[in-house]
Amino acid sequence: MALQKNDIVELKIKDIGANGEGIGGVDDYTLFVKDAVIGDEIEAIVTKIKTGYGYGHLKRIIKPGKWRIKPACPVARVCGGCQLQALSYDKQLKYKENKVKNALIRIGKVPEDIVNNTSLAIIGMEGNGFRYRNKAQYPIGTDNNKPVAGFYMGHSHNIIPCNDCLLGEEINSKILKDILGFMEKYKIPAYDEKTGRGIVRHVLLRCAFGTGERMVCLIVRDYSPGVKSAAGELIKLLRSIDGIKSICLNINPDNTNVILGKKTVVLWGNKTIKDKLCNLEFEISAESFYQVNSAQTEKLYAKVKEFADLKGNERIWDLYCGIGTIGLSLAKEAKEVIGVEYVPEAVADARRNAANNSIINAVFCEGKAEDILPAKADEFLRETIPEVIVIDPPRKGCAESLLKAIINRRPQKVIYVSCDPATLSRDIAVLRLGGYELNKWQPVDMFPQTVSVETVTCLVPKDTAI
Ligand code: SAH
Repeated sequence: MALQKNDIVELKIKDIGANGEGIGGVDDYTLFVKDAVIGDEIEAIVTKIKTGYGYGHLKRIIKPGKWRIKPACPVARVCGGCQLQALSYDKQLKYKENKVKNALIRIGKVPEDIVNNTSLAIIGMEGNGFRYRNKAQYPIGTDNNKPVAGFYMGHSHNIIPCNDCLLGEEINSKILKDILGFMEKYKIPAYDEKTGRGIVRHVLLRCAFGTGERMVCLIVRDYSPGVKSAAGELIKLLRSIDGIKSICLNINPDNTNVILGKKTVVLWGNKTIKDKLCNLEFEISAESFYQVNSAQTEKLYAKVKEFADLKGNERIWDLYCGIGTIGLSLAKEAKEVIGVEYVPEAVADARRNAANNSIINAVFCEGKAEDILPAKADEFLRETIPEVIVIDPPRKGCAESLLKAIINRRPQKVIYVSCDPATLSRDIAVLRLGGYELNKWQPVDMFPQTVSVETVTCLVPKDTAI
């Protein structure tokens, strides 16, 4: 008999879905069950029926699977940010490796033997896999008439109070407590998305793990008179934080999900904080992207360098370069580096970072990679034919026009760094059609406890592929 909504079923979880959910079957019918872990035998309530598959809610664990562990965080299940906390770390790594492999085969259409012959075992994180994030962004809301920091529950915009995300630093909860206390005392309300009223939207906390320098940035709807007059008190409060170098306000008046607005005011200290990574110094602005897991970033960039295998005469394009970290970590062993990035503050950081590290063979262009490369390459990129092109786009991957422009330049190597195996694979399919072949792929676990996985891939022209 066909399953129906609200049916209660028993099943064994045999696989893990793209969002960390458990996958099992009732007869031939596939059910996706959030919070169920591979190996579990469970009882689930059917919540949604579709043709061929459905969704269920975990009601009871009949027998826990051998990879199930007790989540370290008390709010792991409601928060949902760490989809894999109940899964042992070894199994998390296996899952991530498979996720990349399956995407390369299914979406990238890379033949399975090539995928197998070019794979490198995932680089996992040492230690316990918690407290690794150097950046935290807490939404601020109101609960019982009091300002609270926390996380959004499920798909809603309700904030569940929680000051201590276990992926971030312990000190964050004290900083948040101070800020919330300040808001209460000076009657500065949290922003309310529904009414568009209120002031404080988010708190952004950043720490440069290599130096201990710290930034606190309040994202506000408006630099209101109330905030202006209390700013001195806020500075007094935050100045005592260990390592604090920058206190800023970012102003975001728009009714949007985007966290940061266009304008940042420095209330105290510097506009940036400085970090040490790969034996270089980097300045980071509030608006700039910076990898959140410093320990794993060192390993990720080392892999890029290994794949690039520089001899000293290479011209490198570093597309989606952020504050220049990848390009600058390669520059000393190359002839020249040209970075492209579209966030102006990040480009300014990249230029300063080159200068601060006495790197004179790196230049940075501001603009969208897909605009600069096909149309303005000769103007901005000096008609160079690069030997190595590094691409490190956000989740959505690259525009096809950019990939075609890359193919037209015929670099000896394309090193594609990606945080999304699906878009990576989609783009690899285009590069393969353009005559490139997958030469190596290296998953790196930058985000323990979550379903995200970073991959460094190396592609070379087909005639030179192994
Ligand atoms: N390589 C850097 C940054 C990677 S994150 C690092 O390792 O730190 C991706 C970067 O691409 C971000 O800095 C983002 O601002 C930038 N970006 C996003 N879309 C872009 C586009 N279309 N063109 C150029 N840069 C873009």
